[in-house]
Amino acid sequence: MKNDTLTLAIQKSGRLSEGSIKLLSQCGIRIQNGRNHLKAKAIGFPLELIFLRDDDIPQYVEDGVAAAGILGLNEVLEKNKKVSVIHSLGFSRCRLSVAVPKHIEYQGRKSLQNKRIATSYPALLKQFLKKHAISAEIHHISGSVEVTPGLGLADAIFEIVSSGGTLLGNGLKEVETVLESEAVMIARPDLPPAVESILEKLLFRIRSVQKASNNKYILLNAPKEKLDLIISLLPGIKSPTIMPLAMKGWYSLHSVVSEDDFWQVIDNLKEAGAEGILVVPIEKMIT
Ligand code: ATP
Ligand code: ZN
Repeated sequence: MKNDTLTLAIQKSGRLSEGSIKLLSQCGIRIQNGRNHLKAKAIGFPLELIFLRDDDIPQYVEDGVAAAGILGLNEVLEKNKKVSVIHSLGFSRCRLSVAVPKHIEYQGRKSLQNKRIATSYPALLKQFLKKHAISAEIHHISGSVEVTPGLGLADAIFEIVSSGGTLLGNGLKEVETVLESEAVMIARPDLPPAVESILEKLLFRIRSVQKASNNKYILLNAPKEKLDLIISLLPGIKSPTIMPLAMKGWYSLHSVVSEDDFWQVIDNLKEAGAEGILVVPIEKMIT
C-alpha cells in the first residue's frame, strides 16, 4: 500500500458505479483514464481507483490491496471480512427481503419452516434463519434468483429488492424485510496515518456534499414589522443574512433550510408575511 495515495476500490460496472463516480466528481475528484482499465489515477486528489466486481471489494480491502472501498452494505455483511464500515453514502438504496409466490398465504416466519429458499446471500440467510430458529434448505444461486419459484426450484427467495418490480414480474410478493442497505465506505481498520489522513480529507468532502444536498438556500422579502417573527422561523447555519431593499421598510432575508422540515418552514414563513420566496440548491456546504 502506498503511503502518499489513497487506493479506493469501486465497482467496475453495475448499480454502484455511476453513484460512486458521481460522488467523487461532486468532491472535485476526476478520473484520468476511463473505467476500461483496472486502475485509474485521480486528478486533483491523491487517490488511485481500482475497478472490481463488488463481491471482491471486501477481500481486497482486508488484504490491503485497497485502503478503502465503496459497495453495498448487503455485500459487506455477506462477506464478513475484517473491514470497518466508516460512512453511509446515501445512494443505491435497497433492501434484502424474503419473497414468496403471490398465491401463498404467508403466516409469518413459521411458513418458511422446511422450505427451499433460493438466494445469492447464503451467509445472511443462514443468520436470519438461525436467529428465528427456522430450519430451511438454502439454495445458493448467483443470479436471477427471482425466477426460481416459477421454475419449481424454490418455495421462497431471499434477495435484493428496490422498487419491487422484478418481484411482481415474477409473481412474487415481499413478506419480510431483513436488511435496509445503501452504498457505504469501508476501510481497513489499521491504515497508516498518512493514508488515514487522505481518507479523512475525502470523508470531509463527502460530508460537505451530503449536507449540501440535504439543505436548500432560501431568499425571501419581508416588511420591517414582520422581521422578528420571520427570523424566529428561519433555522439557518448561524443566523439569517438581512439586507435592506430599495423599497423603504422592506428587507431581503437569506438563510439555509433543511430538506426534512422544508415545507413546514415555507408554510410558516408564508403565514408570517414572507413574500417572493426563492429556493435554490446548494452545491457544497462547509460548516
Ligand atoms: P458485479 O458484477 O460487480 O458483481 P452485481 O451483479 O453483483 O455486480 P449489481 O446488480 O450491480 O451487482 O448491484 C450492486 C449493488 O447495488 C447491490 O449489492 C446492492 O447493494 C445495490 N443494488 C442492487 N439492486 C439494486 C437496485 N435495484 N436498486 C438500487 N441498488 C441496488
Ligand atoms: Zn456482485
